[in-house]
Amino acid sequence: MPCIFCQIVAGEAPCFRIHEDDLTLTFLDLFPVSRGHTLIIPKAHCQDLFEIEPGALGAVAQRSLSIAAAIRSALAPDGISVFQLNGAAAGQTVFHYHMHLIPRMQGDALEIHSRVRGEEEDLRQVAAMLTEALRD
Ligand SMILES: [Zn+2]
Repeated sequence: MPCIFCQIVAGEAPCFRIHEDDLTLTFLDLFPVSRGHTLIIPKAHCQDLFEIEPGALGAVAQRSLSIAAAIRSALAPDGISVFQLNGAAAGQTVFHYHMHLIPRMQGDALEIHSRVRGEEEDLRQVAAMLTEALRD
């Protein structure tokens, strides 16, 4: 069973990419809980917190600083939830380490996953907004 996130890293599966560097890739969750729901992953495959290399973990954490700033600047949420889930029992659904950044408005239900795929055009628009905000 190929890993969907490794396929995205390899360019073999599409994504709405926000940012890429040597160690990390940032893209939109295709099933967003809210507009701007973003994932940051290490490029090197590791399943979860128990497998990730310290350097990769640090790279993901550092990347979250600029991504969170871009989300705040582009979408002006009231808050941003950061989630990182380890194991099916914890709600992990893709077994390649990833950090969720979920913009929240006051009163939002605190969901982590959605079953509804985002609208293609809206995902494209949000990706463009976040990419642009990262440049500022
Ligand atoms: Zn993988």
